[in-house]
Amino acid sequence: FVNRQCKSHCHGPHRPHMHSSHSVHEDKGLPGPYPIAEDPSTCGIVKATQYGMLERCKELVEAGYDVRQPDKENVTLLHWAAINNRQELVKYYISKGAVVDQLGGDLKSTPLHWAIRQGHLLMVMLLLKCGADPSLIDGEGFSSIHLAVLFQHMPIIAYLIAKGQNIDTTDFNGQTPLMLTAQKSIGPEPMKFLLKFNPSLNAVDNVQKNTALHWAIASGNTSAVDLLLEAGASLDIKNVKGERPLDIAYESQNHFMVYMIQEEEKMRNRRNNRLLKIVEKYELFLMLASSLTFMWAIGYVMDLSSDSWLLKGGLLLSLLFVMSLFVRLLVGLKNLRYLPTAFLLSSVFWMSMTWFFWFLPDILYTQEMQFCLDMMGFLYYFYKTWSTDPGYIKTSEEERKENIIALAEAGCLDFRTFCTSCLVRKPLRSVHCLACQSCVARYDQHSLWTGQCVGIGNHYYYLLFLVFLAMTGIWMLYGTL
Ligand SMILES: [Zn+2]
Ligand SMILES: [Zn+2]
Repeated sequence: FVNRQCKSHCHGPHRPHMHSSHSVHEDKGLPGPYPIAEDPSTCGIVKATQYGMLERCKELVEAGYDVRQPDKENVTLLHWAAINNRQELVKYYISKGAVVDQLGGDLKSTPLHWAIRQGHLLMVMLLLKCGADPSLIDGEGFSSIHLAVLFQHMPIIAYLIAKGQNIDTTDFNGQTPLMLTAQKSIGPEPMKFLLKFNPSLNAVDNVQKNTALHWAIASGNTSAVDLLLEAGASLDIKNVKGERPLDIAYESQNHFMVYMIQEEEKMRNRRNNRLLKIVEKYELFLMLASSLTFMWAIGYVMDLSSDSWLLKGGLLLSLLFVMSLFVRLLVGLKNLRYLPTAFLLSSVFWMSMTWFFWFLPDILYTQEMQFCLDMMGFLYYFYKTWSTDPGYIKTSEEERKENIIALAEAGCLDFRTFCTSCLVRKPLRSVHCLACQSCVARYDQHSLWTGQCVGIGNHYYYLLFLVFLAMTGIWMLYGTL
């Protein structure tokens, strides 16, 4: 039974399955996945190894069993110990002279390959420490990192890369892990994860000369196509048949993908437009200026001496239309998230203008001073909230690799303590902000008004900003009375 089960694990077809946070904790070793069915005093050494009976194995080895002796399927004891995550036995066999990188089984795999297929991170760490070579290729042409990608064991991928495996390692056919993911994985997570390590987007394999984008389109992997386009994968590379990614989408009659690629192409062309480049340079200023103008125009229309609500309504509608066109033009600019900020600032600007030019004649000097102070406080704390680092967690690539190794060795390379987007250890109460694309320490919220996160660094300024905003509002109400 054990034999068959192990065989189906290691020789069976590639079944992508997610091992996320559980894998690390389940793999602590004993007790094993199989009930103790055999009598420990009589069973053979292969069974004893699979069940993790250390004493029985020692007894048999002391009695003269050669640990390098493969069984009739050419599988060694070290393979059986590795696939069943028997740490003590692996250490024992290696101390008795077992060959760490022995090839065995139908697929001519090393014990490391077997451990990776099963997602045993601790075993992978142990074997690497004992000198296993992760760059060795198995009978199907896959190296260790390819197997980790195929079986979607993210902590193992991270660990192998941190230990120096190249993210662009090619398998026997010249496929990189990115191409394999594009071709075979389900869901966006594995692709997102790999993209964090800056793989080569435009590498091509040896046989079809496909890029990862070609592979993703050919296998109908929509989420991978989306992520690759966003990451900037080339649309112009031709494969061995002279097909660009778009041609493959046409060929597979996948209308949605054709649409995705055409839209991306349009957007990239637009980005090269010279006018838009100028706009991009001054985009913050333009955004502010245009929202000021819109606000003014709305006020002007509302204030028209005409009594015709039809006219006013029509004008307002056309203003809204122009505004939405303008916002559409801005889509794709990197500072779009500051649009609400621009509107907030311009409305406050017009509010204070109103105050000074309409209410000023009617109010006392002291109130005027108070209003000015309030405005200054508002602007100051707005600026401080906006410009202070809320607690973004920044790390260099080296630091990230060190982090991964340290976390793995502490036994907690686990997605509750590790951010898969930033590849950092999450500090206490930190949250990953999708808008800022960073983890934020003591995350409070992503503020629409400042276009920034509010966290440990600027929480205090943000509260004062809100206080002054409320006071400005109260002064305005007071002014209208
Ligand atoms: Zn993060
Ligand atoms: Zn944010």
